[in-house]
Amino acid sequence: MKAHDGMYIGGAWRPAAGQDVIEVVNPVDEQVIGTVPAGTAEDVDAAVRAARAALPGWAATPPAERAARLAVLRDVLAARADEIAETVTAELGSPLKFSQAVHAAVPIAVAGSYAELAATYAFEEKTGNSVVHHEPIGVVAAITPWNYPLHQIVAKAAPALAAGCAIVVKPAEDTPLVARLFAEAVHEAGVPAGVFNLVTGLGPVAGQALAEHPGVDLVSFTGSTAVGRRIAAIAAGQVKKVALELGGKSANVILPTADLAKAVNVGVANVMSNSGQTCSAWTRMLVHRDQYEEAVGLATTAAAKYGERIGPVVNAKQQARVRGYIEKGVAEGARLVAGGPEAPRETGYFVSPTVFADVTPDMTIAQEEIFGPVLSILRYEDEEDALRIANGTVYGLAGAVWAGDEAEAVAFARRMETGQVDINGGRFNPLAPFGGYKQSGVGRELGVHGLAEYLQTKSLQF
Ligand code: NAP
Ligand code: MG
Repeated sequence: MKAHDGMYIGGAWRPAAGQDVIEVVNPVDEQVIGTVPAGTAEDVDAAVRAARAALPGWAATPPAERAARLAVLRDVLAARADEIAETVTAELGSPLKFSQAVHAAVPIAVAGSYAELAATYAFEEKTGNSVVHHEPIGVVAAITPWNYPLHQIVAKAAPALAAGCAIVVKPAEDTPLVARLFAEAVHEAGVPAGVFNLVTGLGPVAGQALAEHPGVDLVSFTGSTAVGRRIAAIAAGQVKKVALELGGKSANVILPTADLAKAVNVGVANVMSNSGQTCSAWTRMLVHRDQYEEAVGLATTAAAKYGERIGPVVNAKQQARVRGYIEKGVAEGARLVAGGPEAPRETGYFVSPTVFADVTPDMTIAQEEIFGPVLSILRYEDEEDALRIANGTVYGLAGAVWAGDEAEAVAFARRMETGQVDINGGRFNPLAPFGGYKQSGVGRELGVHGLAEYLQTKSLQF
């Protein structure tokens, strides 16, 4: 147990204004592993002031120099990859191998991608008799969740730094330790004082103060739709821009020509990964009625393999929430074929890998984001029916299509109301825009589209 002091503001670790702390708990054994200061509006104000003061200098720094800092940051993260993985495993509970392969590796790749983009992006372009300058939007407030704790910070901080913005990050209360590690890495990379700031604290206190601060030009938020809606309302009052990465209820559409076993196995792995705490997880599997029972059998077998392999969910509240959804699935008449509401272990916030068959599109478990290792398998009659079901939620973040040939899968994917679709198990691409249709969000993260969120244009006419 370590008591961490201070918050990273204006290039140094400064004592918090108040005395309150947040206890960080290891979800595997429920032990307190550390404390961090619970920031207040006063700390947020100091951080925003530091960012505002640093903004003009960083905005005027040549993109090549910003790119060089980002390249060093990537290298520092790579050098500290083991420490990052261990930290995420301790505060999120994910198995160490997954922390290494995803929680540590993806942010390194994303930081690297923005080092390259900062160096190559056309921050100035000509159109007719005008020169258009792409200028930094200003001071960014980044409010992030716990499910991919470092990735979600880097997916905002790296493009913000590349664009020439200054930033204040409020990480999730459950995962502040890897955020502190990132602040150390930014410092080590030689990013000028005040360009990056970190305030740990509670959402309704520090998070809200940050979103409300008049010195912020853009609020970039990842988390629940409920909080996203609040933040958008606050920002609207001040006419400031928001970028929102919210919930999802993505469909994994298995067309009759697909390799069924592969599609089901990859589909189950996708949902169980990170204990189901992935906003883009394919939590609804859509199978043709002729292949339905075979798919259910395959999914049941596949889910059993994850019993000992998956980590816990992040905290007791999420465990209770997921259990509530499983009970609701049973109560609404879905057929439980794997897992169930009982916790598989006495200690730790574990949830059994759970699969429901005979799920109909109107059931709660087919509509709401559960954020746990719970898969719903739905039956469709024909392709039009599959499309109706796939598009039949308020969300539209991601999805998957499997078919015998790529063109058939692409034709279906083009009709889906969603921001990202994996074709026959396509790999994650850190340069591809990520973000939602409908209530899954506003704006895009990653790659060149993610960079554009942090820029605004000024045109000069000649
Ligand atoms: P959340 O409350 O939306 O948390 C996301 C971030 O917003 C955290 O940093 C949080 O701080 C902060 N926050 C909370 N209330 C705020 C407010 N009034 N003003 C400003 N910031 C605020 O999400 P959660 O409670 O961690 O999880 C609840 C559900 O959200 C999950 O079950 C899941 O369905 C969904 N979720 C989605 C994603 C995603 O990537 N789309 C990620 C996480 C969760 P605290 O950490 O102090 O609460
Ligand atoms: Mg919360």
